Amino acid sequence: MSSLTLIAPAKINLYLEILGRRPDGFHKVAMVLQTIGLADRLHLTGRPDGQLTLTCAHPQVPTDSSNLAWRAAALMAEQFPDSHRRHGGVAIHLDKHIPVAAGLAGGSTDGAAVLVGLDQLWGLGLTQGELQDLAAQLGSDMPFCIGGGTALAAGRGELLSPLPDLEGWGVVVAKHRDLGVSTPWAYKTYAQQFGQRWDAGCQPSHAQGLLTAITQRDLGAICHALHNDFEQVVLPAYPQVQALKATLASAGVAGCLLSGSGPTVFALTEDRPAADQAAAVVRAQHPDVDVWVTTLTAHGIQVQPQPV
Ligand code: ATP
Repeated sequence: MSSLTLIAPAKINLYLEILGRRPDGFHKVAMVLQTIGLADRLHLTGRPDGQLTLTCAHPQVPTDSSNLAWRAAALMAEQFPDSHRRHGGVAIHLDKHIPVAAGLAGGSTDGAAVLVGLDQLWGLGLTQGELQDLAAQLGSDMPFCIGGGTALAAGRGELLSPLPDLEGWGVVVAKHRDLGVSTPWAYKTYAQQFGQRWDAGCQPSHAQGLLTAITQRDLGAICHALHNDFEQVVLPAYPQVQALKATLASAGVAGCLLSGSGPTVFALTEDRPAADQAAAVVRAQHPDVDVWVTTLTAHGIQVQPQPV
């Protein structure tokens, strides 16, 4: 029976600006997205009975049709009914390592992995653009997760322009163990507090400084230009996240920021040893915080080679 293992990396936001509200209810954003080494693993196995099943041991991850991995498989079956009939269903097992509801696109990357995995298992030969179009039907962050790396995201997040790779710099990812922030809550709260400025029309983006710094691969300038509009609502509502960010900022890192709608905070460093040192400071001062040390990466979903 055919099977496949996929590695599905998390993302951080080096930049997130909320520029307006669209008639379809989504927000117009400007984001710079970056994949990191922290990743989920998904095992896909063909099922001759045509069924779709999902298993995951993580207590916060739903295993029904609300899971983005499940929804991605259902979309593929709907879009490619002949291949579904010919190859049968799929059993998905999700090894969850990315923290849930953390602003790291954990669900989106799992969905992206299932699109890439079924494309391969069913021999469809879809292009990256075609996979991204399918992903856009399921979530705004999902098209980026297919190819990963460093990219500017416009529209509601699905219009991607690749940027030069920033692979190799260290990153510390820190998140309060028992805290999750709902992305819909963060958008709603931001709109209540700052949405009046959209009445005059969509705001222009201010991302140019960061884009120039990325092109020059200048870590100091990149860290100077890090920005996330959600900090204005999430940090006041969650003082413990504000305190965590202050600890990271004083731990010898080049820069730090809330990722997405949080509550994860990340910090960038020249290299991995510097990230290890900053992580030790956070662990000593915040026993209720989980900390990961990894690097920025240049790839999205990867198919793990099968042992021969
Ligand atoms: P984003 O950064 O894209 O806003 P997030 O990292 O904040 O996303 P997720 O980890 O994707 O958030 O989880 C948000 C909610 O989505 C969870 O509370 C969970 O109920 C649901 N969910 C659906 N599919 C998954 C999945 N594969 N993994 C984790 N959560 C999932």
